Amino acid sequence: MYLKRLEVIGFKSFAERVGIDFVSGVTAVVGPNGSGKSNVTDAIRWVLGEQSAKSLRGAKMEDVIFAGSESRKPLNFAEVSLVLDNEDERLPIPYNEVSVTRRVYRSGESEYLLNKQACRLKDITDLFLDSGLGKEAFSIISQGRVDEILNSKPDDRRAIFEEAAGVLKYKKRRKKAEHK
Ligand code: ATP
Ligand code: MG
Repeated sequence: MYLKRLEVIGFKSFAERVGIDFVSGVTAVVGPNGSGKSNVTDAIRWVLGEQSAKSLRGAKMEDVIFAGSESRKPLNFAEVSLVLDNEDERLPIPYNEVSVTRRVYRSGESEYLLNKQACRLKDITDLFLDSGLGKEAFSIISQGRVDEILNSKPDDRRAIFEEAAGVLKYKKRRKKAEHK
């Protein structure tokens, strides 16, 4: 499984539709401070279901929508799509290519799509749970996160290892069953 393409419109500093094609292997994103490098990883975490505005470096979810600049008016929605190569079927769904889209409007209304079909956020988080690419997964380590892991309490650190080892899914299912 690898990230093939990211398409962004109206997300943070990306006012225009921008498509980034990735190849399997290593990609480096370079640019001056404030040019939008971290906004690229924010977009990836956001489309995978990140719900915390703070973790996306904003105060409220609306802050992910392009807020306007000197030469451009603010936009009314943000949309991010991610296309993954799934030939190795690491995602448990019978498609060689999987696309995930998330859209949010200033009104607060939001939409999620899986292979262009409307779906629930839960469908997306369930699909990525234990794939190593969920919003909580350790495939994305943001600035400051390393300190956070080293300084966390033993229980919290245990949760980090459980996620990395892929047992979190079973724990979540057990918890759900116990509450029935
Ligand atoms: P550094 O090298 O300092 O880490 P970076 O390349 O990671 O920088 P980002 O943090 O990705 O930069 O981008 C910050 C820029 O994104 C700022 O210029 C900020 O104004 C802009 N930005 C963030 N949210 C929005 C928004 N909602 N609308 C317009 N611009 C935004
Ligand atoms: Mg940055």
